[in-house]
Amino acid sequence: MTTTMPSIQMTAAKPGSMEVREAQVPSIKPDEVLIKVRAAAVCGSDLHLYQWDESIRPKLLRASDNFRHGVIAGHEFCGHVVEIGSEVGTIMDDPTVKLSVGAFVSAESHVVCGKCYQCKAGEKHVCVNDKIIGFDRDGAFAGYIALPASCVWKNDADLPFEIAAIQEPLGNAMHAAAHFSLKDQRVAILGLGPIGMFSAVIALMHGAQKVIAVELSETRAKIAREIGVHDVIMGKPARGEAERAAERARIQGLIREAAGHDGPDVVLEMSGHPDAITNAIKCVRRGGKVVAFGLPKDAAYTFDDYSKDVIFNGITVQGIIGRRIYDTWYKVRDLVRNEQARAKLRKIITEVLPYTEFRGGIERMLKGETAKIVLTFNSGH
Ligand SMILES: [Zn+2]
Ligand SMILES: [Zn+2]
Repeated sequence: MTTTMPSIQMTAAKPGSMEVREAQVPSIKPDEVLIKVRAAAVCGSDLHLYQWDESIRPKLLRASDNFRHGVIAGHEFCGHVVEIGSEVGTIMDDPTVKLSVGAFVSAESHVVCGKCYQCKAGEKHVCVNDKIIGFDRDGAFAGYIALPASCVWKNDADLPFEIAAIQEPLGNAMHAAAHFSLKDQRVAILGLGPIGMFSAVIALMHGAQKVIAVELSETRAKIAREIGVHDVIMGKPARGEAERAAERARIQGLIREAAGHDGPDVVLEMSGHPDAITNAIKCVRRGGKVVAFGLPKDAAYTFDDYSKDVIFNGITVQGIIGRRIYDTWYKVRDLVRNEQARAKLRKIITEVLPYTEFRGGIERMLKGETAKIVLTFNSGH
């Protein structure tokens, strides 16, 4: 086996300094497995990383030393097991699942400690000591990745690689969209980035009565219509407080009109834009539910009328991080086994590129010209 591999790393703590570098193929610890990466998808957080912006600052501060030392990015992937450590035990919290060389796998990107209160109480997704692949430890934008077997997920052997590579973000969408039952509900999704779009697929597959989306990019709005979103409201970029207030009022009015009654039952805030967060809180019906997933870019958000909007209106605001380990993964597995869902997901995977072309892909993602991008590694092997 070769001892070096290509990898994509952040090579300096400044915007745009992500580059392909040769790296050593990692060696594994007794509880780890070595995986030959087949494909890895580009995440919104990789875009924040690429831009080195504020929203991801706590993560970056924690990880910035790592990046200075050449930590490899990427955390959404699939590949084949090539080596298994001597102490590898149960995977997927299921003693009946066995791992063997050649197995087609993906992984939970949050490597959890298994020892803290949350881990013991069945809430591993909020482990206080979690380490994130591609931030705190070497990631999957590489020829190979070494990971603790405890975060490895075994895929169906015939799952197409581009679908297998997006299960981690699909899990974010599943965790967000399935937190409240969407069956027969009127659902508004604010922001059609890939996870917003995946949430739309899940809402439709879970029998939402009506799915409404708000988006600025025409490219993404078009994809949303193709996957069956009932109503896509086009937002307009607004500058200055007066213009922004007018745009917020216009969008809230259009969402309420599309939802009927006095607003949607559930709003999924997937954009992180402060105006969209305000819209989510103000357009949801009284007693409705808001799922908060998008991260505001400058990490700050202020409620303008907390008493009325949250308390008097009796709404529920649920923050979503990561995926429930492994409940969410089992739900994702059911979804990706469904042909109708796969067809919708394929419309969201707009590009499958060799890893060497990652920069162009990221630039197009930043401009909203494309949706989900999957990078291939080890193709032809
Ligand atoms: Zn991600
Ligand atoms: Zn823990």
